[in-house]
Amino acid sequence: MRCALVSDTGMERTNNEDSAVADLELGLFIVADGMGGHAAGEVASRIAVDTTLASMRARSRPARVRDEAELLLQAVHDANAAVVREASERGTHGMGTTLSAVCLRKRAAVIANVGDSRVYLISRKGLAQLTVDHTLVAQMVEHGVLTREAARTHADKHVLTMAVGTLGLLEPQILYAKVPAGGRLLLCSDGLHDLLPEDEIESLAKLPDIDEAAHALVARANARGGFDNVTVLLVEP
Ligand code: CA
Repeated sequence: MRCALVSDTGMERTNNEDSAVADLELGLFIVADGMGGHAAGEVASRIAVDTTLASMRARSRPARVRDEAELLLQAVHDANAAVVREASERGTHGMGTTLSAVCLRKRAAVIANVGDSRVYLISRKGLAQLTVDHTLVAQMVEHGVLTREAARTHADKHVLTMAVGTLGLLEPQILYAKVPAGGRLLLCSDGLHDLLPEDEIESLAKLPDIDEAAHALVARANARGGFDNVTVLLVEP
């Protein structure tokens, strides 16, 4: 298994509110994009990533993929509780984070997602977005009110319908995927998929050298303006 992780502040922001981790031993890969301002976003994404990792580490790996999905779901709920606790101790409102987590065993992936960071599958067939964005705009696309193209530039595209660290209902999307031979998974924050069209993401993510691919994706996002923090995590089983 190989992976490459690059997280960059971008061209305009002064701090990086994205957090990420790649644990090859566990086969666990996480990207989180925090929000809340005044360093709260940075703290939220870091707590969410660390808690998810710690929660998965604390439990022995189950034999069945189905049980692994249960563990990952529990880990995301643990992360949510930890961010809620931190926000309440700080007396901060609006502190939260997205969370995209992939648990990979050989070629079988269990994925948990909250918010609008994404997991893509890149294979010979092209690029497929595996996760669904928890945004108002994605709901409008799903219901046929908005086209995918119009969604890309919609003023409300960053309005999340779900985040880690909120007291409301948390229903992470859980899904399974098989990574074909030669395929890769790409986890990324919206600093990437907001700025680059999917055909460009695909061609850069397919560069043979996985480190070069990750750096090229971040460099291209920055070349396109780099308005946001950008995090890219490529995994190849
Ligand atoms: Ca972002």
